[in-house]
Amino acid sequence: LDVVRAVEPRIADAIAQELDDQRESLKLIASENYASPAVLLAMGNWLSDKYAEGTIGRRFYAGCRNVDTVESIAAEHARALFGAEHAYVQPHSGIDANLVAFWAVLAQRVEVPALEQAGVRQVNDLTEADWATLRRELGDQRMLGMSLDAGGHLTHGFRPNISGKMFDQRSYGTDPETGLLDYAAVREAAREFRPLILVAGYSAYPRRVDFAIMREIADEVGATLMVDMAHFAGLVAGKVFTGNEDPVPHAHIVTSTTHKSLRGPRGGLVLCDSGLVDQVDRGCPMVLGGPLPHVMAAKAVALAEARVPEFRDYAQRVVDNARALADGLLRRGARLVTGGTDNHLVLIDVSGYGLTGRQAESALLDAGIVTNRNAIPRDPNGAWYTTGIRVGTPALTTRGVDATGMDEIAGLLDTVLRATTPTGKARYTLADGVAERVRARSAELLARHPLY
Ligand code: PLP
Repeated sequence: LDVVRAVEPRIADAIAQELDDQRESLKLIASENYASPAVLLAMGNWLSDKYAEGTIGRRFYAGCRNVDTVESIAAEHARALFGAEHAYVQPHSGIDANLVAFWAVLAQRVEVPALEQAGVRQVNDLTEADWATLRRELGDQRMLGMSLDAGGHLTHGFRPNISGKMFDQRSYGTDPETGLLDYAAVREAAREFRPLILVAGYSAYPRRVDFAIMREIADEVGATLMVDMAHFAGLVAGKVFTGNEDPVPHAHIVTSTTHKSLRGPRGGLVLCDSGLVDQVDRGCPMVLGGPLPHVMAAKAVALAEARVPEFRDYAQRVVDNARALADGLLRRGARLVTGGTDNHLVLIDVSGYGLTGRQAESALLDAGIVTNRNAIPRDPNGAWYTTGIRVGTPALTTRGVDATGMDEIAGLLDTVLRATTPTGKARYTLADGVAERVRARSAELLARHPLY
């Protein structure tokens, strides 16, 4: 840090402060983790200085041999880890990976007769007039994904997102009684809507998905099944999700982030079968900027880490810990969406404490517990205030917290939420001394599980 400090001390301070914050707070954000020193170090080096648009062995720049090596190794680990035919490791984030996938499916599936008649073979050959034709024809394409309030992601067709603008979009939700995915309702929606892309995967659904059924539905209506496993890639890699719960053998195309349960650098990847390789590999420069070779190096390291047997233990502990956290909350009277969890996350319905998600999130942060507010199905408070708090176990499991520790954490969450009194939709008061007491108890717990 001294090297950075000599140039801009405020940045060095912010970096140091971030490490302290991450060491000292209870990190329960379901999409966060702690990457290993090997992953972090693989990111901070001279690979960052290299331009390498194109794909392995076919670059638009000279001097890319080391980037070729790095990208090949990352892709090789991704293929082996997930049992995929093809892996594209360039996407800079999960959203970028989804854009690559959407475009690949459109390029593979959508026939644009006007363009073919004009002899257009490649996207690079499109003229302004061709683009206008393409936009018109793409306007008719449909996407069916999980709704945001049921746990889907913005990029699964949410109207204000580009995915909701590129596609005529419809969403499926969850059963109002059980909170569980209702496959019969998904099938019915697919039959009626006949989407080009059926998207499965989630950000805030606390249960497993049967991807064999989703594929059956996609096949029945001629849709491409895309699974966004951004959240649970670590559980797939760690073989906790196998058989019908493993998306790779069932989906035509799978996207992911690399920084959540997979515990790598911030980034994304796409896995696909042989039919989509050409389209996927055009991700850069079609929708992505030049690759980040240093991040691909870190992805390779993280994927290699996920191939060792210890990672399977880690993935199993993530799920065991989530169950312990859910059980601890339920025992103390909390209300949970779907009544529990069988993955890495728990969605607390904080209306049981008389709070909005916004109040709960802020009060917990006051006590050193980092979570995020989240909509619950049919949320009466909308997407801004929300009625849910999403908590997840990937990060604290990396620090070695076990099921007993998770029960203790359930107690801390419950203590803070009970001690919070709403005084408006976002405002609240937290009873005197609670924040300090909870901070002291979590400091004790975290001291037993130091970060490095
Ligand atoms: N897909 C899902 C299911 C996610 O939960 C997220 C992140 O929250 C993303 C995609 C986007 O990932 P990123 O923030 O890396 O773009």
